[in-house]
Amino acid sequence: MNRFHHSSAIYRTATSAALVLFSQAALAWGPHTEIAQAALTALGTGDGIYKQLGADTGVLAQYVWMADWRTQLLIRTDEVFYADDYLLFPKAKTHSQHICPEVKQTYAPFFRRALQALRTESPRNAARWIGSLLHFTTDTGSPPHAAGFLGAAHSKMENWVDAKLIHLPEYQPQLLGEDDSAAEAGFLARMDGLIEFSKERAARCRADVDADRREPVEPVVLESALETARVTADLLHTLGVLAARPASGASLSGTVALQKNNHPSLDRLPAKVVLLGTDFSTLTAPDGSFAFRHLPEGDYKLVALAPGATSAPMAVSLRSGGFIVPQLALSAAASGNLLRNGDFLLQWSGADALDHWSMKTPPGKLAAKTSVRDWDGEWLPLEKGVSYRLEAHWKKSAPQAESPLVFVRLKPAASGPAVPTETEPLNAPSDHITLNGTQEAAWAQVCIRAAQAPQEVLESVQFRREN
Ligand SMILES: [Zn+2]
Repeated sequence: MNRFHHSSAIYRTATSAALVLFSQAALAWGPHTEIAQAALTALGTGDGIYKQLGADTGVLAQYVWMADWRTQLLIRTDEVFYADDYLLFPKAKTHSQHICPEVKQTYAPFFRRALQALRTESPRNAARWIGSLLHFTTDTGSPPHAAGFLGAAHSKMENWVDAKLIHLPEYQPQLLGEDDSAAEAGFLARMDGLIEFSKERAARCRADVDADRREPVEPVVLESALETARVTADLLHTLGVLAARPASGASLSGTVALQKNNHPSLDRLPAKVVLLGTDFSTLTAPDGSFAFRHLPEGDYKLVALAPGATSAPMAVSLRSGGFIVPQLALSAAASGNLLRNGDFLLQWSGADALDHWSMKTPPGKLAAKTSVRDWDGEWLPLEKGVSYRLEAHWKKSAPQAESPLVFVRLKPAASGPAVPTETEPLNAPSDHITLNGTQEAAWAQVCIRAAQAPQEVLESVQFRREN
């Protein structure tokens, strides 16, 4: 089924890019959960962050992994969501590396976004945004991440630590600033301090790591883990204090009615609601309801989006008090298509970005040699024994010079070492292929490979159950 029909110059590099991505994911500091838990325990249930998040506070110890789940669909007993809905937004259009110096560019936008979520969204949504911020924060404290050290010993250096020893008895969390701006500056300064702290530890244990001597390394890495937990406690305490301050603004709420697509996990995926031209976004609750609080008064354009359907922008004029949106029905447009933004209508995160499609530039010199880019859709779980149909609806005027392709990548598990295989590609004017969900093809990602933006060559791409 997975025949390789590629003449395109970037085919081989797409495969090696997948390998690079995987090895990046393998650079994971083990004790994220223990660090977050130590910070929460140090804060105690009387802290403001517990008042803000309620029952969702404890989930931070899992959501602290958020940024390592990028591009993944999380399927749990009580929730289904794409991690990218909490990692990509207008102020962070692409994923960042979790290592210094690049990770530093995440601090300010994710601090602001987490604070915004606490003030305007449900506790569950806020906890997920805080999870992203905590991931970047805690990864930074890992000695090789602080030192920008990617060598062979990276993984040993950051995982030679006994996570059971990460506790902060007696720690008094510090407020990083009295208002949003002061707290952001205080957080950035605290992170600079953490980087210096862990860089020094990286240098101190480097020779022992290289010589494979674990014993003297462990207490040094533990110092970094404990300092990271202190920073995490300060950060959570500060978010709780700032979010408790009285806020003005208007509320906006409503319900999105979704048509089910006969897919066990994607039918549980909430709709996403965004306000165009702003950083405001949220996911609906399982019953389809959404609510924003404390939005600045003004005129907004609201768009709701789900697999197979994007609503037309709705003008909303917010004045003090509340505004209830009449029920938004996405069902009329729903076509069984499992892709989000398959008709390329939504560019909330920026005019140069396409929501729910991520553009991959070929690495190195190849990027300059070709204007062909891969636009990767979101990974979709397939059911074994079910047949699926990929349809490309080409534009009449689609340029043929560097003939654009649409194909599907397939892999056996949501994460892991398997290099995805690829189906044969669709070239204009061919319009569909079918494939089956199997053990090996348990996850599918539609990829558009073109020299133009997808919306210039395609009306839409659809991926649905065949029957
Ligand atoms: Zn990471």
